[in-house]
Amino acid sequence: MGRRTGNGTRAVLTLALAAAVTGCTAGQEAADPADAASRWTHGKGSSGGFVVQYRTGGKAASATAYLRTRRILDKAAERLNDTVEVPHRIPLVVRSCGAAEPAYDPETGTVDFCAEHVEEIRDRFAHADRRGAPGAGDAHAAAVLEETAYHESAHALIDRLGLRFTGREEDVADQLAAVLLIGQGRAGEAKALAVAEDYALAAEETPFDEADLLDEHSLDGQRAANYACYVYGAHPTRHEDLVGAGGRVTEDRAEGCPDEWEQARSGWQRLLAGHLKRQV
Ligand SMILES: [Zn+2]
Repeated sequence: MGRRTGNGTRAVLTLALAAAVTGCTAGQEAADPADAASRWTHGKGSSGGFVVQYRTGGKAASATAYLRTRRILDKAAERLNDTVEVPHRIPLVVRSCGAAEPAYDPETGTVDFCAEHVEEIRDRFAHADRRGAPGAGDAHAAAVLEETAYHESAHALIDRLGLRFTGREEDVADQLAAVLLIGQGRAGEAKALAVAEDYALAAEETPFDEADLLDEHSLDGQRAANYACYVYGAHPTRHEDLVGAGGRVTEDRAEGCPDEWEQARSGWQRLLAGHLKRQV
């Protein structure tokens, strides 16, 4: 299954299990008939690096329009290409995926960025109780979609660059996303907190069950706490409100968050040694 296990993906989870699809590195889906009439953009010739490809037909039309207007994936690809030297061309393809989740496909070396996921995230924040300024929900959705791009791109980098580590790949992929978001400074910290909110909302909407416990992803509530811990750990004095009652980080865990953040950052720094164009 794909990126997340929260609300709106329960049926997907069942279908994905039935199809023995196993995670963000799921096998290739059958081609979308609408793809035949697709218009491809943002190609980068035969050079390496991340490129965004939009399919404008059928069910992908609305998601494509949303993503293109805000340049969410274009900016994410630029950040990735400014950060990492990748000899391979890695397309981020915006398409309708049916029941599948966003995923990197090691057989094609492509990230499928699903229109259905875009709509799910936009819907979650449109319906959530938003205490922020007008447009906050839209900014939150954009932040979560940027995080999805980094998370799936992490799977692509792990595969294409042959990166080896211990621990769960899904957690390691979340850590790269956190590093790339929080590395943007205050604006990026706000984005990472939007991601934490998204996972917390998903956890509230759908309590976890046994299938979630058997899944390769950490639970939504854990992923929410992880992102909040990284943000707090990166700048404790800025984010004291995240700790304790009303926050997403317990006082016990908060003590270790600076170390957790530094491990995530320096861990990816080491993993990408020899491929980095700049420090992360
Ligand atoms: Zn993943």
